[in-house]
Amino acid sequence: MSLIVTPAEVDFSDPSAPASPAYGDVYHARAGALAQSRHVFLGGNGLPERWRGRDRFVVLETGFGLGNNFLATWDAWRQDPARSRRLVFVSIEKHPLRREDLARAHAGQPLADLAAQLLAAWPPLTGGLHSLGFDGGRVELLLGLGDARDLLRELVLQADAFHLDGFAPSRNPELWDDYLIKNLARLAAPEATAATWSISRPMRRAMNTAGFEVSLAPGFANKPEMTVARFAPRHQPQRPAGREPLAPQAREAVILGAGLAGAACAWALAREGVSCTVLDALPGPAQASSGNPAGLFHGTVNPDDGPHARFNRAAALATRAALGDLGVACQGGLLRLETRLQVADMQHAPGYVEPLDAAQASALAGTALHGPAWFYPGGGAVSPGDYVRALLAASGARLQLGCQVAHLAPTGEGWQLTDAAGHVLHHAPLVVLAGGHAQLPLIRGLAGDLAADLAVQRGQLSHLASAPWCPRVPLAGDGYAIADGRGGVWCGATTQDDDPDPTLRDSDQQENFTRYARLAGLPQVPQAPLAGRVGWRLMTPDRLPMIGGITAADGLAAQLRLSPRRPGLVMCTALGSRGISWAALAGQLVAALALGSPRPLEADLLDAVDPMRFHLRRARRGKGAE
Ligand SMILES: Cc1cc2nc3c(=O)[nH]c(=O)nc-3n(C[C@H](O)[C@H](O)[C@H](O)COP(=O)(O)OP(=O)(O)OC[C@H]3O[C@@H](n4cnc5c(N)ncnc54)[C@H](O)[C@@H]3O)c2cc1C
Repeated sequence: MSLIVTPAEVDFSDPSAPASPAYGDVYHARAGALAQSRHVFLGGNGLPERWRGRDRFVVLETGFGLGNNFLATWDAWRQDPARSRRLVFVSIEKHPLRREDLARAHAGQPLADLAAQLLAAWPPLTGGLHSLGFDGGRVELLLGLGDARDLLRELVLQADAFHLDGFAPSRNPELWDDYLIKNLARLAAPEATAATWSISRPMRRAMNTAGFEVSLAPGFANKPEMTVARFAPRHQPQRPAGREPLAPQAREAVILGAGLAGAACAWALAREGVSCTVLDALPGPAQASSGNPAGLFHGTVNPDDGPHARFNRAAALATRAALGDLGVACQGGLLRLETRLQVADMQHAPGYVEPLDAAQASALAGTALHGPAWFYPGGGAVSPGDYVRALLAASGARLQLGCQVAHLAPTGEGWQLTDAAGHVLHHAPLVVLAGGHAQLPLIRGLAGDLAADLAVQRGQLSHLASAPWCPRVPLAGDGYAIADGRGGVWCGATTQDDDPDPTLRDSDQQENFTRYARLAGLPQVPQAPLAGRVGWRLMTPDRLPMIGGITAADGLAAQLRLSPRRPGLVMCTALGSRGISWAALAGQLVAALALGSPRPLEADLLDAVDPMRFHLRRARRGKGAE
């Protein structure tokens, strides 16, 4: 995966058939893109009939192109009163369209309303999976930008229908070869079907070998035939135990924790039709770590585009979309100072991150900065409390406040939560542990080793009510500054390991104000009465969160994907110093892991945030030492 993907160059000179000069092929039949989609891909896959009565229907497409197959499928789903509750359309594209080309491709086309929504949600062209939600989350477009050969093997999903729509096999052979088809078979749900306008013999042979029953059907327009197929392997492929959904039938869930993590899980689960109860020991939501008055959200960049950068990017994009969907007021755009690189050496991903020289960054910040900075147009600052309340309101979750969960025990049908006196507080087929640092005793009781992988870090945020300088956009470097909108700034934040002191400290305020003065280029550190807030961050050693199922004591296999999990239980915690940036993606991931919908992250990133990863590393080290 890489930070940026190369956009498509589209030749629009023949309006009835936009073409790709790079592949020497047209994007769709001259006789009409939507008519072709309806005949080949919907008709060829037995749609709309096959999604009727289903909870979720998953389509996997190779080659998003201009997006016509997505629009035609979404339109058919919308028109069908007996449609599945959800439609998830997964599509892979190596050369996605630039926003302006997408607009041009759909100008004056029949599905203008849907195309406009697609355009509004069109992401920056960065590598990896992008989850775009429509129709209140009932339609999801999971767009994989990058090479299909890299991305398909990273997908974790079961597809009910395949739309094979690359450029012609003669022009784009790697999108139709044995390796690719074998990967599709790995992702096929029982009874999955496939359709394509191509009748290439090698492709049909590869499908046959991979377990599809292949036949020819009448083609579209001037093509007499097309290919349709049904997945009917001689042996059902074995699914990796660690990737099995944790509570596929759950229609109710209990979420422990009414902070960012819990609220985001409630919203994501509600969008998948699960009714949630959120329990918290405190008298209101967002009163623990998520109760700060303001905080930053943004992605990160690193030269090798490793797991941290990719996870942070996916999360930042999800946050931006969630805040937009929920209508939460935030300060948009964020500057992050760069101290090592020259601006010419900084990476650039339009719409996601843009390098600015000192003069440009200074103009944006409203003060003289002495070096370049990264500008994240989709980053910003928000009140985490406002965000939590909006997530909870949109989820429709029931709040059960003022109840401390002391024990968690499996029952035949799920999990039961009890208080210290042994009274049953709740039980449900799905329980999500999203209780931040305060749930550590509970985790210790459940899986002592997991708790040993977690550390608690104190942080103090300071408020300067009358600030000599307020940044025009939130500014981060060594410390950060966020304008409070009333002539003051929030600046932060300190970090102290294993420090339970809840009182505001002068020394911490001095530290925050000193860094603020340095950011602002002030000659003197401001002085002000003690004001701010103390909170705690729950951290892992590798600074990624813990999201996923846990194994039984003896359940760890040689790989995370092969390790069976305890059913009905998902952890969503250790959001560290990035809870605002991570919560939306974390919630989506919890819903997908629990219910079995396509995972919004690549397999290697699922492993990177797997709660059992430290356990496995220890086990491997132990083996090595033997
Ligand atoms: C000073 C500071 C500055 C920060 N700045 C930023 C920032 O700029 N950007 C950013 O992205 N992140 C920031 N963070 C991090 C962010 O605040 C956290 O990652 C996030 O709030 C964690 O959310 P959470 O839902 O996991 O935990 P919490 O918000 O702590 O919520 C957990 C809830 O679970 C409840 N609970 C726990 N155990 C039980 C139990 N047994 N029974 C019942 N209820 C229970 C608790 O009462 C609590 O309400 C900052 C953190 C601090 C401390």
